[in-house]
Amino acid sequence: MIYDTIIIGRGPAGVSAAIYLKRFNLNPLIIAKDDGVLIETEAIDNFYGFGHISGKELVHRGIEHAKNLDISMIEAEVIEIMPLGETFLIKTNEGEYESKSVFLAMGKKKAQLKIATRNKFDGKGVSYCAICDGFFYKNKHIGLVGAGPFMENEYNVLKNFTKELTIFTDGAKLEHQFDGVKVVEDKIIELVGDERLRSVKTQNGEYEVDGLFIALGSQSGMSLSYHLGLEMDEKGFLKVDNFMTNIPGIFAGGDIIGGLLQVSKAVADGASAALAIKKFLDSKK
Ligand SMILES: Cc1cc2nc3c(=O)[nH]c(=O)nc-3n(C[C@H](O)[C@H](O)[C@H](O)COP(=O)(O)OP(=O)(O)OC[C@H]3O[C@@H](n4cnc5c(N)ncnc54)[C@H](O)[C@@H]3O)c2cc1C
Repeated sequence: MIYDTIIIGRGPAGVSAAIYLKRFNLNPLIIAKDDGVLIETEAIDNFYGFGHISGKELVHRGIEHAKNLDISMIEAEVIEIMPLGETFLIKTNEGEYESKSVFLAMGKKKAQLKIATRNKFDGKGVSYCAICDGFFYKNKHIGLVGAGPFMENEYNVLKNFTKELTIFTDGAKLEHQFDGVKVVEDKIIELVGDERLRSVKTQNGEYEVDGLFIALGSQSGMSLSYHLGLEMDEKGFLKVDNFMTNIPGIFAGGDIIGGLLQVSKAVADGASAALAIKKFLDSKK
């Protein structure tokens, strides 16, 4: 089955877009790995019409609203988006789905190393995208940080470039075993280098690497965007023109495109993006 739009994220931007698309008589699918950042918010006191509501209740009301409209929803982590010409293939840890357009509503959360030097070597040995930068480390020693499906996806790319690969789980337990790969399970305490990254210091040792790929937690909007070659501004927010990114058919809204990082703006983005998506789909008929 080919969906009209696959929406990644069930926060306010994603659900709002789904509600509008469904009411345009289109066929959206929402894929999300969890309820997003609102769940962490004890009280929302500034959303129109509610006065005071917990973040959890607000997000659950949105999801219930979408379910009442029979909008399809899947709980899964999106690992890759592949443009296939006229459609897009969305790969998740649970399966693959195809659509004519995509709406990225993944918020702005990105899993980072929790150390002071975490950004010091970005672009100077530290990368967030194996497909983009793996080639630069051909036959060199690559470190890969992570323990879940996102890390495995990056591993499958990087193993084509080198045999010298070390996985750093940063204190987490590996979800699967990897034959013949060195695994360091200590917590990372420092990234060491001068002009470029030279080594990774953990609680119990120091390991020389030429490059380090961060694939912690799940695929964030930012790392998915790197993989796709989507244009971003200097703060890492996606650049859009009437909610469409530089890849025709891939739209984005909510916190992932920056501006006011609030529920009201995310809801408005979802609605306006749905209209832009409908126009795009109509133009393809
Ligand atoms: C502590 C805190 C307090 C806040 N207080 C307020 C407030 O009082 N008022 C207010 O208006 N705003 C507040 N905000 C901001 C508000 O929560 C955000 O602006 C809003 O949630 C953004 O909506 P969004 O839909 O863009 O993203 P999010 O709500 O972050 O939703 C992102 C969605 O994308 C999904 N996702 C991400 N990556 C993947 C992946 N790889 N695969 C599948 N799914 C994925 C997530 O699971 C989630 O469903 C607060 C935020 C925080 C963190």
